[in-house]
Amino acid sequence: MKLLVTGGAGFIGSAYVRRLLQGTESVLRADRVTVLDSFTYAGTEGSLDPVRDDPRLRIVHGDVCDVELVDATVAGHDVIVHLAAESHVDRSIASAAPFISTNVGGTGVLLDAALRHRTGRFLHVSTDEVYGAIDQGSWAASAPLNPSSPYSASKAAADLLALSYHRTHGLDVVITRGANTYGPYQHPEKLIPRFVTNLIDGHTLPLYGDGGDIRNWLHVDDHCHGIALAQCNGRAGGIYHLGTGTARTNRDLTGLLLAAFDAGWERVTPVADRKGHDRRYALDTTTTQRDLGWKPTVDFDQGLAATIEWYRENRAWWEPLITA
Ligand code: NAD
Repeated sequence: MKLLVTGGAGFIGSAYVRRLLQGTESVLRADRVTVLDSFTYAGTEGSLDPVRDDPRLRIVHGDVCDVELVDATVAGHDVIVHLAAESHVDRSIASAAPFISTNVGGTGVLLDAALRHRTGRFLHVSTDEVYGAIDQGSWAASAPLNPSSPYSASKAAADLLALSYHRTHGLDVVITRGANTYGPYQHPEKLIPRFVTNLIDGHTLPLYGDGGDIRNWLHVDDHCHGIALAQCNGRAGGIYHLGTGTARTNRDLTGLLLAAFDAGWERVTPVADRKGHDRRYALDTTTTQRDLGWKPTVDFDQGLAATIEWYRENRAWWEPLITA
């Protein structure tokens, strides 16, 4: 199988590529993996170092909005796994334009190319944030989209665009919507790596609002396995939720991280809440479990401990990104 992975130098994309090439992805073998990535501040060559010498890997430096480059790159691939995106909510609040361009426009460029080249499957990696907040219970995939931030709105738009190519053109589109993801190689602007690297360096932890926002945390290995199952066994037009029952308030999570460093609450600085901040996300994973046989396997406490350890041991990877 010949795969094109967009955003393959980012957090989840690089984990997917490493798993495919290192043989740790149980349901999928790759004969060739092309990474298409424009290496924004969030894309890192070092994240692909463990597989860099694998002859099956080709890295294309390029923008998913570049029609000619995308057309030339998509040719000859069986599957597109589309992860390239602007992904940080705070940045989308400061400036939405790159989110609209990459997440909506870039997805459109890729869909057109997939159609032209009759690519076998287009898997769009999306997020639980497209539904907006839910006070109780969990969202089913049939729930209306009600995104709060420019980031989540751009992802919702991309989802709808992808589904329209399935309905209108018969393109084989599958969507995954994943929960908040954590693990090694995540950019230190995101919550867990930010707090961990701040704790390593003796800095304070900026905690939003009252710290009561609730997130379900999904280990990147579980997220990638869900993507692989959806890629292999998902039905065309299907939407698959990748969520966990590991709900934690940001305050609880902060307490766990402080404890891991024997640090006290004096290290925490409350900061004004993010504008439009969603209180709680939750996904109903019944369909994914039933149809794909997926369930998360990484225990949160163990996954968090291993992630902290990874950041302790891999300063050379994250330190250059702190000022970038
Ligand atoms: P990331 O920010 O770590 O990586 C994004 C990658 O896309 C980077 O390598 C970047 O260089 C690349 N990129 C950005 N703009 C590009 C462009 N115009 N052309 C080509 N490449 C470009 O993101 P991530 O956390 O790995 O997320 C990957 C995908 O998964 C995103 O689509 C995101 O919406 C989705 N997702 C993320 C999470 C999460 O918690 N991280 C949860 C659910 C879904």
